[in-house]
Amino acid sequence: MPELPELEIVRDVLGKRVGGKTIERVELVQPGAALVVRDLTGRGFAKTLTGTTITGVSRRGKFIILELARLGAAPGSDVLQSNLVINPKLTGRLQLASGEVKRYKKTAMVLTLDNAAELRYYDDKAMGQLYLTDHVERIPEFEGMGPEPFDITRAQFRERLRQYRGEIKGVLTRGEFLAGIGNAYADEILWNARLHPYRKRTQLTAQEIDRLYDAMISTLRESIEILRAEMSENIHLEPRDFFNVHMKTGEPCPHCGTVISAITANQRITNFCRTCQPGGLIRGM
Ligand SMILES: [Zn+2]
Repeated sequence: MPELPELEIVRDVLGKRVGGKTIERVELVQPGAALVVRDLTGRGFAKTLTGTTITGVSRRGKFIILELARLGAAPGSDVLQSNLVINPKLTGRLQLASGEVKRYKKTAMVLTLDNAAELRYYDDKAMGQLYLTDHVERIPEFEGMGPEPFDITRAQFRERLRQYRGEIKGVLTRGEFLAGIGNAYADEILWNARLHPYRKRTQLTAQEIDRLYDAMISTLRESIEILRAEMSENIHLEPRDFFNVHMKTGEPCPHCGTVISAITANQRITNFCRTCQPGGLIRGM
């Protein structure tokens, strides 16, 4: 599941590769039942997209936003602007390819650009969301979304955290607390902070909370740099070999050599080191 670091690379690469390009053709392959393709403009999904120019690419939380404008309207008339907003959820991926490159089986959308390149969306489990909207704030998931991790200070982080009392990993992955952190990076951040994922927020000292903030910023920043090198322009890849604990069950902790623990709850795996991240309890021992 792409999280903030992967989606930062996607945003960056798309900004360079599709920014300024015009969408010449839109193919929506009959998507799986769960894939959400929603036209909030009421003007038709493919019809609205065809002929629009991608003027910018941004990211909010786990959403990639293609900013669109219909250029060449009569002088003095309003330029019609809209946004294609994509949340890849668990298994969705964006892919840049030339038309000759074979499509993945579960390709659900293909935008052919005026340089003949294709921007594709494929999704093995068809769980993602594609919204077309004139106003991004109308997307249901945008309401109540917390700030971006890089946009808050240590003091604001401390202040926001006060509203939550539960297990710290659960808090970190809540979109209302902060946008863009999911299961994988929460494990990595907590390992870097040397905090047990199941410790309650109310049990953390002020010093531990500062450590958590610092680890969050450094983990996300360093991961973005590693991903930039490993992904290059292959935005459909999700390299995770550089993780320290997440998906490393049974391997030695890179810090102390203790075998990495795994606890599965609600179909999510949590990995951590019992030596570096002491405390917590009890649950799932
Ligand atoms: Zn360790």
